[in-house]
Amino acid sequence: MKTIKDLGELTGKRVLVRADFNVPLDGTTITDDGRIRAALPTINALREAGAKVILMAHLGRPKGKVVPELSLAPVAKRLGELIDANVALAKDTYGEDAQAKVAAMNSGDAVMLENVRFNPEETSKDAAERSAYAKKIAQLADAFVSDGFGVVHRAQGSNCAIAEFLPSAAGLLVEKEVNALSKATQNPERPLTVVLGGSKVSDKLGVIENLLDKADRLVIGGGMVFTFLKAQGCEVGTSLLEEDMIDTVRKYIETAKNNNVEIVLPTDIVVNAAFPAADAVIAPETVSADAIPADKMGLDIGPESQKLFHDKIVDSKTVVWNGPMGVFEVAQFADGTRAVAQGLVDASKNGAFSIVGGGDSASAVRNLGFDENGFSHISTGGGASLEFLEGKELPGLKVLD
Ligand code: AMP
Repeated sequence: MKTIKDLGELTGKRVLVRADFNVPLDGTTITDDGRIRAALPTINALREAGAKVILMAHLGRPKGKVVPELSLAPVAKRLGELIDANVALAKDTYGEDAQAKVAAMNSGDAVMLENVRFNPEETSKDAAERSAYAKKIAQLADAFVSDGFGVVHRAQGSNCAIAEFLPSAAGLLVEKEVNALSKATQNPERPLTVVLGGSKVSDKLGVIENLLDKADRLVIGGGMVFTFLKAQGCEVGTSLLEEDMIDTVRKYIETAKNNNVEIVLPTDIVVNAAFPAADAVIAPETVSADAIPADKMGLDIGPESQKLFHDKIVDSKTVVWNGPMGVFEVAQFADGTRAVAQGLVDASKNGAFSIVGGGDSASAVRNLGFDENGFSHISTGGGASLEFLEGKELPGLKVLD
């Protein structure tokens, strides 16, 4: 994979940077600027090298139309604060305003183009349309740096097609993500423990399949665990269950046994009468995993399982975690996720290499108040890190070879 060094002398060069600025917004207020901060090393390195930094990103799903609420204006403002410089926002991605703003740049300046998804070609299914769009944006610049790890699993105009037209390289964030995920999956220090949670087994099939002959141990929690418990003959009450996955999961359990991969399931479950609605009274109770009452819903792993999971994680040299252990958004069902996060922190203290997959697990870690430095790596890309763990070739990385 080419890196920024491969682009040579950058003084005065116009460098297009595809970043992942898809931040959560409350109106025009950014509620978590983690993704903007994650792009700072690349942006600062390019500015220090004297480049003119032209940023491209998407926000939300405007579906090819201009949606004023999804303007990158709040992102440009926040980035300006973080780098202590004015970051002008162009009204478009390749039109007159973008051209004028780029023409006015000096070395070390940063300019942001408006939401790349305001144009339908960005995410078109037709590769020729994506290329035509990327070509127009490419005319603004001399080089392309791909730093939006959260989008490298998608073949789109601004992160893939653009590499056809410009010398291209991975930014520091993409480089760091790829190095961390490779370290965990290619020749990891053992034992390698993979912790999976989140709502659905069907979202994680590829990961489970790919890791069934690589991991030493799979620890399963979250909504997906009930399909595992059911496959082992337990009743799961009204908990999340994917009936059509039971046979598949049974086969996984069999394969794991044959491959000497330990599968760790919870032994106790925190249940409630229903999914926790904002105004409902919550009365959680803990039951044995093989005795979930017919009218109860499992919403977290219980205290015994929290200890079990924590200990299994601490007894690892490499840990990869993706997906919460319960409905962590509600305080009463966050302890399982907290125990796993603590397990990764404690494993890291013992010298293990720990990775938090992106998306919900990364935001859980932050919301539960963990220090990000307690983990070896927190991925910024949920979907991208999952597809990496599935062993898939990611189109946004392939173009950087
Ligand atoms: P995912 O998007 O697949 O990573 O799943 C994350 C979501 O799974 C979070 O919003 C959790 O609240 C939810 N979740 C975790 N455990 C459970 C559970 N036992 N029942 C229902 N939802 C769950």
